[in-house]
Amino acid sequence: MLDLIQNATPGTTQRGLLEAPLHPDTHLPFVVVRGMREGPTLLVTAGVHGAEYASIDAAYELADTDPAGLSGTLVVLPVVNPSAFWERRIYVNPIDGRNLNRVFPGQAGGTYAERLAHWIHGEFLSQADALIDLHGGDLVEALEPFSIYVRGHEASRALALAFGLPNVVATDSRGMTLEVTHTHGLPAIIAEASGQGLRPPAEVARLVEGTRRAMRYLGMLAPSPNATPPVTEHTALAWLSSPASGLWHPAVGAGETVNEGQVVGTLRDLTGRDLRTFHAPRGGTVLFVVTSLAMNEGDPLLGIGVPATANEDSDARREERSPAS
Ligand SMILES: [Zn+2]
Repeated sequence: MLDLIQNATPGTTQRGLLEAPLHPDTHLPFVVVRGMREGPTLLVTAGVHGAEYASIDAAYELADTDPAGLSGTLVVLPVVNPSAFWERRIYVNPIDGRNLNRVFPGQAGGTYAERLAHWIHGEFLSQADALIDLHGGDLVEALEPFSIYVRGHEASRALALAFGLPNVVATDSRGMTLEVTHTHGLPAIIAEASGQGLRPPAEVARLVEGTRRAMRYLGMLAPSPNATPPVTEHTALAWLSSPASGLWHPAVGAGETVNEGQVVGTLRDLTGRDLRTFHAPRGGTVLFVVTSLAMNEGDPLLGIGVPATANEDSDARREERSPAS
């Protein structure tokens, strides 16, 4: 990435295709917008999951940023996982069946997705000053907008708050693009909006406007008088996944508030017999829910954002107990 930036004249936009050192041949589109003034390098990625179209649309819109108004450099990789994009594949990469967002920072001698992750991590993620990785619900997921950062990394949390999606979640999950926070201390967030293959202009705009707010926060764009929208912070994303294949009937929608223990959906077998009823493992906001009738064993069903206040209370209770134990 550094040579792309060095080769870009200040005040210009460069567009092209990168040839990743991979088999089968892998060509990634890139756009480098180099500002007239010095400033940080922000990497915006999309298409790690190939059918999250609102995020890919948003990345292309951000690539049209006017370099005349920019300080620093905006590098956009709008389709990071081209084979998944062209084959309209959900979750996984069609070449090796791996989820690219579970294998970062990757491995030089690994499977295709691991090698792709290794190359992207080494050449791009680790070379930036900040990362915004755009996502959304996949073709079979409805989603309430949220962003994710590595728990305890304050610079990433600040970036997520500046981005201003309605929900912000701290995570301990590994293998995502956010690994660059662990390996290089980089401020990094995943920002998610829209889903189900849809790309309504208002949802694309959420990601574009959020990225611009983050760029103002980083000093790359002139300040705006508009206030950052209110944000609810969550200390966990409580996931449910399916223990069996069957017909999935969700009982809640994205954005709904649920109580711990509430019924959130049922699974039936192909003859229509009830297999299992699912209950909310925690109270909170449903941030995504799978809408596909076909459910495969091990696939996610839904995720609930657990609000910070609820968890802080339990942390406080733990701390109160700990001196006596
Ligand atoms: Zn995704």
